[in-house]
Parts: sequence; structure tokens; C-alpha cells
Amino acid sequence: MKTYRIAAIPGDGIGTEVVGAGVAVLAALAAREGSFAFRFDHFDWGGEYYKRHGRMMPEDGREQIRHHDAILFGSAGHPEIADHITLWGLRLAICQPFDQYANVRPTRILPGITSPLRGVTGPELDWVIVRENSEGEYAGVGGRVHQGMAEEAATDVSLMTRAGVTRIMRFAFRLARGRPRKLLTVVTKSNAQRHAMVMWDEVAAAVAAEFPDVTWDKMLVDAMTMRMTLKPQTLDTIVATNLHADILSDLAAALAGSPGIAPTANLNPERTFPSMFEPIHGSAFDIMGKGIANPIGTFWSAVLMLEHLGEAGAAARLMKAIERVTADPALHTPDLGGRADTRAVTEAVIGAIRA
Ligand code: NAD
Ligand code: MN
Repeated sequence: MKTYRIAAIPGDGIGTEVVGAGVAVLAALAAREGSFAFRFDHFDWGGEYYKRHGRMMPEDGREQIRHHDAILFGSAGHPEIADHITLWGLRLAICQPFDQYANVRPTRILPGITSPLRGVTGPELDWVIVRENSEGEYAGVGGRVHQGMAEEAATDVSLMTRAGVTRIMRFAFRLARGRPRKLLTVVTKSNAQRHAMVMWDEVAAAVAAEFPDVTWDKMLVDAMTMRMTLKPQTLDTIVATNLHADILSDLAAALAGSPGIAPTANLNPERTFPSMFEPIHGSAFDIMGKGIANPIGTFWSAVLMLEHLGEAGAAARLMKAIERVTADPALHTPDLGGRADTRAVTEAVIGAIRA
């Protein structure tokens, strides 16, 4: 029997609550399927680890997870540690060296969930956002001089490479081609940013020629926020830079009901390194430790993980179990206006898997 080795990295805040729930659900799913098993290795990396060791993960941390089949991640972010240290020390320290350049974020309105958009009940909003996940605004290029002085200067340089843009465009066009509408929107800001974003547009047009069966258009990012809220049904697959897609996908999550639901896959499509699956939300300092975090985003991320592992049947079973649970308002956590806690939702999903 195939055994998948999964590195579970809960991180901080509600990350620890939702990843624990995700591991329980995946174990129940494997038992139900009977055709494969999971072996979870747990890593206590994150803010508490930082307080003890002065770093977010051990020096050889990546070596320890290098040969796992996938990574299930929670969140990096600790109330006592600066956000750029926790993010760069853990999440980006895995994503970037493991070349997980394609960040895929599906968004739909699940059964029983109400969109804040008037008149939008479900079929009007069914998107996949592809986020460039290795360079751009989050390349980490920049610096500060004369720190704290009046003459201080600081830069964050957005770095784009033709190779990096080409591979994310190919990935997005291929993904769009695999969906029924074969429709891709390329998000840009090439009116104000006249160098890298112009190259981004040029590469998009060149790659589009390789995909004559995909209909595509181009949208400035500011106008895109309006199109997402006013005409959601005109969108299907969306590709955007690291920063733009980071922001647009939080908007997408809110329009689909709650940031607690939205999933992410950080893919290394060539499979040279393990890919990483995580809810899009962060540590949620305001609700951590209360046991009320919505675990659905993590469960849906587990669906993406199963698809990546080639377990399509198990992925479909888990997605169906999730949808059966969201359909019942008595099983909604407070972010969805309900009163259920993490544990009740987790037990209900496990129950639906077994049914
Ligand atoms: P956040 O996603 O943690 O929280 C935003 C809001 O959404 C909060 O009100 C929170 O309660 C709510 N929320 C988020 N997930 C929820 C869930 N599963 N169930 C119910 N409610 C949920 O974003 P933030 O407040 O901007 O960031 C907090 C910390 O998390 C920061 O340190 C930030 O850097 C970090 N962060 C990490 C990641 C990551 O590791 N991938 C992503 C985003 C933020
Ligand atoms: Mn984000």
C-alpha cells in the first residue's frame, strides 16, 4: 500500500488549531479509502521555536522535509515577533528555495455560504487565481541605509525575470485551458509601472499565442477589484503578480464568504521539490486559542494536496464531505455568522467522510 509522507508544519496562532484538524481529517480519509496511508511528521517550527532558538526553523530544516511527498502548512505570524521575520523565516524560507513558483487559489461559494455580494448565490463566482510566487514585489531585493536617521532611504525592488514570467504565464494558460470556459484574465499595472509590468504584458501576449483555444484579456489591477465585485461572472482563471494576487485573493476569499474558507497550493510543478498546501489566512491573533478558527480552508487545501498526489477519488470524497458540512448553518463557525467551534466542524467532516 502506498504511504505518503506528509510534513505537517502548523506554525503559529490558529495555524496550530487548523493543521491539527487537517491531520485528523486526512487520517480519517485514508482509513476510509483503504488504498493508501499517510505518515505525518510534525515540525514545531514558528514563533515559539524562534523564541527558544533565535530562528524560525533549524538550519537544516529544508533538508528534513526535502523528500516528503507534500507539506501541510498552517501560518507564520506571532504577536511578539515582527511579521517580516516570521514570514521570511518560515513560509518564504520554504516556498522560495523549493521553487514553489505557482500559487493556486481556487474560489467558489460553497453550499450554505452567503456571499456579501448582492444577488450572487454560487454559479456567478467560480475562479482560480494563479499567483506568481517566486519573484516580483516579494523578491526580497532592496535595502535600508542610514537607518533611523532623517536621511534614511529604503527600497523594495520588484524584480521580474523573463523566465519567471514565462513559466507562470504558461502555467496559467494551461490551467485555464483545462477549465470549461477556457478564459484567462491577466492582471497588470503597466500604465504606472513602465518596465517590469510592460515585460509582463509582452510575455503574456507571446505565451497566449501558444494557446489559441484560450480566450484572454488584460486588466489593470485597480479596475480588477471593481470587476471582481461588480461582474464576478465575467471572470474564470486569473493570473497576477505576487503582490497583486496576494491582495486580490484575500478579496476573493471575502467575496466567497470568509477568509477562513479559502485554500492555497504552493506548487513546484516540475516536482523537483515538495509542494506546500495551506489555508490563505494568517495566525488570526484576535481569535487564536479560542478554538473557533474555521478549519475549512485547511480541509480544502488538503483536497488540493490529494489532487497533487494523484488521489483524485479521495480528493472528491473530501470535497463532498466539506460541502455537506458547510451546507448546514448549525456547523458554521463565527466568521460565517454561526456558533460552531473548530472541533464540531472537524468531527462533522470526519463523520461525512465515514458516511
Ligand atoms: P489573518 O488572516 O490572520 O486575519 C484576518 C482576519 O480574518 C482576522 O479577523 C481573523 O480572525 C480572520 N480569520 C482568518 N482566518 C480565519 C479562520 N480560519 N477562521 C475564522 N476567522 C479567520 O491576517 P492578519 O491579521 O493580517 O495577519 C495576522 C498574522 O498572520 C500576521 O503575523 C501575518 O504576517 C500572518 N500571516 C501569515 C500568513 C501565512 O503564513 N501564509 C498569511 C497571512 C498572514
Ligand atoms: Mn496574503
